Amino acid sequence: MIELLEKSLDELQNLFESYEIPKFRGKQLIDYIYHRHIFDFQEMTQFPKELRQWLIEHCSISLPTVVTESVAPDGKTKKLLLQLADSSRIEAVLMKQHYGNSVCVSSQVGCAMGCVFCASTQGGLFRDLTVAEIVSQVLLFAQLEGEDIHSLVVMGAGEPLQNYDNVLKALQLIHEPTVFNISYRKMTISTCGWVPNIYKLADEGLPITLALSLHATTNEVRRTIMPVGAYHALDEVLEAVHYYYERTQRRVTFEYILIDGVNASFKEAHQLGEIGKKFPNCHINLIPVNGNEHIDLYKPSNENMNTFKDIVSSYGLSVTIRKEMGDAIQAACGQLKVAHGRKEEIHE
Ligand code: SF4
Repeated sequence: MIELLEKSLDELQNLFESYEIPKFRGKQLIDYIYHRHIFDFQEMTQFPKELRQWLIEHCSISLPTVVTESVAPDGKTKKLLLQLADSSRIEAVLMKQHYGNSVCVSSQVGCAMGCVFCASTQGGLFRDLTVAEIVSQVLLFAQLEGEDIHSLVVMGAGEPLQNYDNVLKALQLIHEPTVFNISYRKMTISTCGWVPNIYKLADEGLPITLALSLHATTNEVRRTIMPVGAYHALDEVLEAVHYYYERTQRRVTFEYILIDGVNASFKEAHQLGEIGKKFPNCHINLIPVNGNEHIDLYKPSNENMNTFKDIVSSYGLSVTIRKEMGDAIQAACGQLKVAHGRKEEIHE
């Protein structure tokens, strides 16, 4: 079967042409899927009966099933636990920001990276997501909300740069004017520091924002909480990020999770300030660790987090402490899946 959620308008038109179907049907089909949210070929009544039958026999639109939908009490964050065709589960998050709707998608089922503060990696990597599985996370939110999606972050489960080709193709589709029309400037890829593909992405020449999950200021601490640190030393990662900045001129974001007693001392705040100074206009996003019954880590006190922030800011840097928008619905990556899996285990 031909998966339609992996096809650009050009690809669809070429496909139709090769089957002697008028090219303009490609645009109509895209409109049905991405704007009218009609996924049943029988309901595409603008198409002649023969074309509907041809679509039924040759094509599919593979949308995941929504297992659970959780909404934070303020209504601004919504998280979907989704089941894929092979019964794998992933999650996607919608955040209603003042500038519009932002969707955070997963790029893999599970993750091989093993970061100690992350629930997504607890069962290891199961598989990469397909292009359609990445695109469909955005499509489901657009359908559920009945609203446009303005920005996209690839920051859910998985290391996006390990699923490079599918992530890139998905972003190219999402960018298409006839699909979601989201500018590359409103897309962010978050990486834990997969160095070779940071260079590769830089050379694509697309103005996508890169967010580096830094989380430590020394190799010793980084290796303790992020096993990827054993493959790529901090200097090597920062050099790749610098190359990315030079090629794209995009402001780099550093993600820094604050874990009490691990990486949140005031000395480390100064070290973080020194690192940030080397990246013009960079932004530093401090994230209080989202500990729970599966992750035995704790955030520093509010007072210490504010002092940490003030120290980093004193280096002339833009620093924020991430609003814990999703806390109430367990919206740190992987947590909903873990919580749901647990519930099933208990009920079995
Ligand atoms: S934080 Fe990201 S890279 Fe690290 S284990 Fe979780 S999903 Fe993977």
